[in-house]
Amino acid sequence: MALDEYRAKRDFTRSPEPKGGRVARRKGASLFFCVQKHLASSLHYDLRLEWDGVLLSWAVPKGPSLDPSVKRLAMHVEDHPVEYGEFEGVIPDGYGAGVVLLWDRGTWVPESDDVPAALKKGDLKFRLDGFKLKGSWALVRTRGYGGSRGDGRSWLLIKHRDDWSGEIDITEFAPDSVKSGGSFGDVLTEELPDVWTSNREGRGGGDTMASLTEIVKKVERFERERAKREKGTASGARATAPRPAAQKTPAKRSRKR
Ligand code: MN
Repeated sequence: MALDEYRAKRDFTRSPEPKGGRVARRKGASLFFCVQKHLASSLHYDLRLEWDGVLLSWAVPKGPSLDPSVKRLAMHVEDHPVEYGEFEGVIPDGYGAGVVLLWDRGTWVPESDDVPAALKKGDLKFRLDGFKLKGSWALVRTRGYGGSRGDGRSWLLIKHRDDWSGEIDITEFAPDSVKSGGSFGDVLTEELPDVWTSNREGRGGGDTMASLTEIVKKVERFERERAKREKGTASGARATAPRPAAQKTPAKRSRKR
């Protein structure tokens, strides 16, 4: 039931995203969380928390901030299948067309006693134990921006002050995938030949090819701007705080054929 909206939005004959099945909850297993950096119609970071057999999901346009004084808008979106948590790749067309990077992953622990009640109330407190995000956080529902009533989908993602909060801009400091080590450009370069060939020969036709061309241009623009930014800060933060070694040498991705 929970995945109806997720499935309705996607054509799984054309998208590499998982359709999602029933996932049996392993007793005592920790809850999974991930953040997927998604360059679609616009860049955003999808925060997903495993709960009750699905991934509760919020799209965070500016990404998480480690600074407790910064509240980041987080749009509550449809539940995703648990398998989605490992997804990284190119969505050639349709809903969410673009590139998805697995930006962070790990486990989470609710700090609110009753999670369903906290979600209903719109105030969920939790701890993250990922590679990039750790410590205590809150998701708080807000009345929304611009509108008078809001649709209940606007939340704020806020870091609590603890050992893991700070002023470092984590999205700039650690921009790449925790799965492949790659950037949007790397994932696109890796997957494009296969995606291009399979779509040219098949189902999607001209629309998909046009969409793929747009994605390539978008990623090129994104990487150019990023290179410019990094050059601009070369004598600043980056110089004294190099990227973690793991992110300098993208691990070879295992390829599915
Ligand atoms: Mn997304």
